[in-house]
Amino acid sequence: MKTKKAGSTARFGARYGKRIKDTVKKFETQKRFKCPRCGRMSVKRESYGIWKCTKCGARFAGGAYSPQTGAGKAAIRAIKEPQAVKGEK
Ligand SMILES: [Zn+2]
Repeated sequence: MKTKKAGSTARFGARYGKRIKDTVKKFETQKRFKCPRCGRMSVKRESYGIWKCTKCGARFAGGAYSPQTGAGKAAIRAIKEPQAVKGEK
């Protein structure tokens, strides 16, 4: 069942409270994000911290409300840098 007020968060029913659902709805209905695998703007929020590309099907973890967080970017950099250094040699 879908209600006007709850929109995409109707699946939560009466649980979790209005404020958090408003936040979830805001981010679930906003523009799509760029896919890190295929580069297309087809990434949608699938669940809390889970993002999925509707074009290539890539599923990845990210921030709760955006695919990349400041902490996530730092982590990716930390993972990628040793490889980049290795590649240059
Ligand atoms: Zn993709």
